[in-house]
Amino acid sequence: MTEQSVLSPSTGKTSAPTQLMLIGGKWVEAVEGDWREIVSPGHRGKVLARVPRGTGADVDLAVSAARAAFPAWRDQHFTARQRVLLKIADAIEARAEELAQVTAVDTGNALRTQARPEVATLVDLFRYFGGVAGEVKGTTLPAGAAQLQYTRQEPLGVVGAILPWNSPLMIAGFKVPAALAAGNTIVLKAAEDAPLSILLMAEVCEEFLPPGVLNVVTGTGREAGAALVDHPGVDKVSFTGSTEVGRGIAGRAGERLAHVSLELGGKNPSIVFPGAVTDELIDGLVLSSRVTRQGQSCTAGSRLYLHRDVHDEVLARLADRLGALKVGDPLDESNDIGAIINQSQYDSIRDYLEDGLANMRVELGGLPPTTGPLAEGLFHVPTLFSGGDNSFRLAREEIFGPVVVAIPWTDVDDVVRMANDSAYGLAAYVWSQDIDQAISTAHRLEAGWVQVNQGGGQVVGQSYGGYKQSGIGREVSLEGMIAGFTQTKQINVCLGQRATTTPPATTKTGA
Ligand code: NAD
Repeated sequence: MTEQSVLSPSTGKTSAPTQLMLIGGKWVEAVEGDWREIVSPGHRGKVLARVPRGTGADVDLAVSAARAAFPAWRDQHFTARQRVLLKIADAIEARAEELAQVTAVDTGNALRTQARPEVATLVDLFRYFGGVAGEVKGTTLPAGAAQLQYTRQEPLGVVGAILPWNSPLMIAGFKVPAALAAGNTIVLKAAEDAPLSILLMAEVCEEFLPPGVLNVVTGTGREAGAALVDHPGVDKVSFTGSTEVGRGIAGRAGERLAHVSLELGGKNPSIVFPGAVTDELIDGLVLSSRVTRQGQSCTAGSRLYLHRDVHDEVLARLADRLGALKVGDPLDESNDIGAIINQSQYDSIRDYLEDGLANMRVELGGLPPTTGPLAEGLFHVPTLFSGGDNSFRLAREEIFGPVVVAIPWTDVDDVVRMANDSAYGLAAYVWSQDIDQAISTAHRLEAGWVQVNQGGGQVVGQSYGGYKQSGIGREVSLEGMIAGFTQTKQINVCLGQRATTTPPATTKTGA
C-alpha cells in the first residue's frame, strides 16, 4: 500500500507516506481526491501518513465490489474459506512485529503491554474462526419419510463493519474472520484517527482473498461511516464505538431494516470482597482497570467498589502499583502506558480530572505534566480517586482515560444495586476468595461479561457483548458468529409418491 514506513513520523506534509484504500482488490485514492493526515498520539503534531478521505462515492464502489465478490465467496465449500483464513493467520503472525509497531504509533497503545498482545489476539481470532468455519450448519427435522425438512445457515451478504480507534486490530478480529468464515463479504470503515494498522492488516489479507471480498475505506464517520450505514447494498452493519454514535446508527440501519449489531461503551464495576489483599488481587485490579491502554477500553473496570474492611489497604497498594507504571513513547519497550489518541479525548479526560480533583480525594495521579518529555505527547498519568459515591459524574460516565474511582461498601445487596445502577452493562469484575459468594454475585450483575478473580481481555471462543446501552449482539464466539453473520433458511421438500405418512394438517396451509 506504500513504499515508505510510517514508523518514523515526519514533521511536514511532504514527506509523510501516502497510504491508499483497498477497494475491489486495488489500492486506490478517494474518488474526490481528498486526504486526511494521521497524527501520532505519542509525538504531538507529527504526521505519520496521509490517507484518502473516502466519501459516499468510495463506499459505493466498495459495496459494489463486495456484492460482486459475494456469490463466489459464499458458494465455496467451507474448507476453502477455512484454508484462506488459516493462511491469513500465519501471514499476520509472520508480520506481527510490524503490525504491532504500526499499532503503537497509530493508536498510542504501548508496544509491549498492548500492541503486541492485540496482534496476537488477531492471529488467534483468524485461527479460531477459520477452525470453526464448518460449524456454520443447520438442522434436520425428523419429519417422516415423506418430507425432508432442514435448515441452512446462509451468510447475510455484504457486511459494513465500522471500527473505533482504541484497539483497531483486535476489534477487526472480532468481525472480519467471523464474517468471512460464514461466507459474507466486507466493507470495513477504519476509525479516522487510527486507520494505519487496519490498512496493513488488509494488505496481508489481500494476498489470499479474491478481489472485493475484503474492502477497506478510510474517512470520517460523518461521510464514509454514514454512507456505509445508509447504503442499500449493505445487508448488515456491525458497529463498535460509542453509545451515542451507535444509537444513531441503530436508528438509521433500522429505518431500512438492515441487520445491525452494536458493541458500545461501558462503565464497568469491579467489586472487591473482604479477605486477604494479595499481590494477585492488586495485579488483577491493575489489569482490569486497563490503565495500560490509557483506560481507553470499553471493558475498563473503572468503578472500583471496595469493601470497607479492605478499602484502605487495597487503595494504598493499588496506588503503589499504578504509580510504578511508566508512561511515555508507545514504541519504547520500557513503557507500560502509551498516549491518548487525540487532543479532544485528552481534553475530555482533563475535564473529568478537574471535576475529580475538586470533589474527591486523589490517591494517585491528577493533571498531566506540563513540562518534560510527557508534555511532548498526549500523555495522561494513572489517577485513582476515592471519597466519592455512586452519584458522582466520574462514577457514572465513561471517561475513557486512565482514571479509577473507588467507592466503599459494606452490604452485598447494596454493592450489587450500585453496580447495576448504570445505563451501561458491558463488563464486570468480582474479586472474592469465597467462590460461592463470587459466583452468586456474578449472576446478579447486569453485564454481558463478568470475570471472577481475573481481569484480562477477551479470549477466543467466549461470548462478548453488552447488556442495556452497551450493545446488541454478541461477538468473539461461534454462537455469536452464527447469530450475527448468518440467517436461517428453512427448506421443506415433499419426497413424492413413495410417501408412507402424510404431514400434519396444520402444515398444509401457510401462516
Ligand atoms: P465513535 O463512536 O466516535 O466512532 C466509532 C466509529 O464510528 C469510527 O469509525 C467513526 O468514524 C464512526 N462514526 C462516527 N460517526 C458516525 C456516523 N454518524 N455514522 C457512521 N459511522 C460513524 O467511537 P470512538 O471514539 O472511535 O471509540 C470510543 C468508543 O467506542 C467508546 O465509547 C468505547 O467504549 C467504545 N468501544 C466499545 C467497544 C465494545 O466492544 N463494546 C470496543 C471499543 C470501543
